[in-house]
Amino acid sequence: MRLSKTFIKTLRDAPKDETARNGALLVRAGYIYKEMAGIYDYLPLGLRVIENIKTIIREEMNRIGCEEVLLSGLQNPEPWEKTGRFSESEVDIWFKTKLASGGDLGLAPTHEEPITNMLKNYVSSYKDLPLYIYQFQTKFRNELRAKSGILRGREFLMKDLYSFHTSEEDLDVFYGKVEEAYRKIFDRLGIGEDTFETFASGGIFSKYSHEFQTLLPVGEDTIYYNKDKSIVLNEEVYNDEVLADLGVTGEKFEKATSAEVGNIFKLKFKYSEPLGLKFVDENNTQKPVYMGCYGIGVSRLMGTIAEKFSDEKGLIWPESVAPFKYYLIGIGEAGTKLAEEIYDKRDDVLFDDRDVRPGEKFGDADLIGIPYRIVISDKTLEEEAIEITNRANGETKLVKIEEIEKSL
Ligand code: ATP
Ligand code: MG
Repeated sequence: MRLSKTFIKTLRDAPKDETARNGALLVRAGYIYKEMAGIYDYLPLGLRVIENIKTIIREEMNRIGCEEVLLSGLQNPEPWEKTGRFSESEVDIWFKTKLASGGDLGLAPTHEEPITNMLKNYVSSYKDLPLYIYQFQTKFRNELRAKSGILRGREFLMKDLYSFHTSEEDLDVFYGKVEEAYRKIFDRLGIGEDTFETFASGGIFSKYSHEFQTLLPVGEDTIYYNKDKSIVLNEEVYNDEVLADLGVTGEKFEKATSAEVGNIFKLKFKYSEPLGLKFVDENNTQKPVYMGCYGIGVSRLMGTIAEKFSDEKGLIWPESVAPFKYYLIGIGEAGTKLAEEIYDKRDDVLFDDRDVRPGEKFGDADLIGIPYRIVISDKTLEEEAIEITNRANGETKLVKIEEIEKSL
């Protein structure tokens, strides 16, 4: 991508109403555009980050045998009425609208009801199970507080996976596989060390659910962890009863602030029973399907990573999610010519070919936060080299021109 040809521009200042650091940085660096509080557009750079995060999640989901779908955003109230969740007293974050032909319609805040309802048409026997079905989908939630940039959107991107089983044992085994897949995902995204599987409140059918909480000063959650962080609890379940239940009396716990980047639930019959998703087992007995659900906040992850990996100059993307690997600057005629040649050969380069002062290019390189900056100038060419600087640690090295291809 050539900066001279794109419509996006870096900004000196963020919008005044953008108080969250992730939002301010991402708007200033040209990744997102703010429509309204909690409502953002993803621009070319931002979309590349989103797609990189999705690719990592998709690879780990497919590795454990999940199938990808795309369910509708517009929701028929019928299945939701069967679980009682179309009612605003049960789910208070609905955006609702009307059909032109009459009748209510909702904008999906999540997808348990429609997927369970849909599967009634595809599941009847134990031979049809298990199933692991996921999607990347835009969710709509009329969140009261939307002041955290893309950490809490009114429209946001989620990966949601639903699993369907013939037995609790089978659900438990798959739940373990998802835990493992989630650990790999957060490792690959560069936040593994700061992301903890956390006990949270369960619901009707299981004692606890698990959240994946990433340490983050501006996060909205409070967690408690023991010394080696092997036991982490959400504040909502941090009490003597739960500690005794987990067998951890007497340990000292520290408090921290975090962002929930994912969560996993054993739903059992919570949705299959009211919606009538059943199967017949080997003995011809009809039973409700066991279910689990597993979410990841894709856009919240982007905000979390932006917030975590940044300094006073701007963003510092981990390589796995960065929109490009190199930020390329050519200075002077010869430097620009070689920069053009490098750009022509590669698709992992953001080329700052704008007609502006080098100082402005350096500033924007830091703000946009691409992992490596390449500078080619008369000075580097005197050494028959190009200069590569690591955005994260500032380390600079010269790479000889004949070694460019091998080195990059
Ligand atoms: P929270 O407690 O933060 O509101 P939640 O319990 O409502 O989250 P789920 O409904 O389980 O979350 O959604 C799955 C994941 O989607 C969450 O773990 C979180 O990462 C993300 N998520 C939830 N709400 C939002 C939002 N308003 N904006 C961005 N991401 C969100
Ligand atoms: Mg919520």
